[in-house]
Amino acid sequence: MGKLDQKVAIVTGATSGIGRETAILLSREGASVVFTGRNKDAAEETSDLISKEGGKCLFIQHDVADENNWIEVIKTTKDHFGSLDILVNNAGQFFLKPIMETSLEDFNQICSVNIDGAWLGMKHCLPEMNDGGAIVNVSSLMGQMGLPDASGYCASKGAVTSMTKAAALEVADRNIKINALHPGVIWTPMVGAGSEGDNDLKSFFQLETPLREVGLPKNMADAILFLCTTEYLTGSDLNVDGGRFADGAMGSNAS
Ligand code: NAP
Repeated sequence: MGKLDQKVAIVTGATSGIGRETAILLSREGASVVFTGRNKDAAEETSDLISKEGGKCLFIQHDVADENNWIEVIKTTKDHFGSLDILVNNAGQFFLKPIMETSLEDFNQICSVNIDGAWLGMKHCLPEMNDGGAIVNVSSLMGQMGLPDASGYCASKGAVTSMTKAAALEVADRNIKINALHPGVIWTPMVGAGSEGDNDLKSFFQLETPLREVGLPKNMADAILFLCTTEYLTGSDLNVDGGRFADGAMGSNAS
């Protein structure tokens, strides 16, 4: 028996990294999984990995910043699988640019994906979601810390973490749990995995992290599964970061 038998889940941004690993794990635990993203070719790999294990999934091409896309995703989910229990708002973008060189357009763009995307997901899924369901908003350690040249990213993730708490309070009477995940440095394309010179980068992050390892998408999927199934946790945030947030001397080992 899986932990999510009979459940229906939507996972955004599952064409890569943390989202892909989460879609696979939720399916392995018995959920029917609708997964989304913009890149159809990359979606095929996720579909194949789930189908190979005998899981049930459906890919819907989706820009999380587009409200009409969200309405369509939820309608298709209900038509296809009949209900909705879990939403993982994982899709996100990142860029580094000094604030003085960042245009308002750059800032609005990252906010539209990272904030509007998660907000629209909650707004449109909640009316359709079964009581007792769960939402996990993938925020970031950078929702509660600063990172130079990442004002847009930090602002957007701070918003995700705080709106998680407000939304959780609004639906606590339906026993719907809404929590945020704060990954540390997770080895995905977003932080340079697969790019030129990525070994040096990986060693740098390993040295900076108290557990001396970068996180893996699988580590985040495990934490998301926990947040989807735990009974007495809502409006909270969980740092899964190899000890980075606890380390007042962060970075001093890397030089
Ligand atoms: P990733 O491998 O780059 O994956 C990002 C995913 O987001 C992709 O599937 C991408 O799909 C999707 N996406 C981006 N813009 C989208 C849009 N407008 N509409 C729909 N999907 C969109 O990165 P990742 O590391 O797995 O990141 C997943 C989440 O974890 C993000 O929210 C990120 O901020 C957060 N996070 C990551 C780290 C880390 O160290 N990796 C740390 C803290 C937080 P398409 O390209 O197909 O659209």
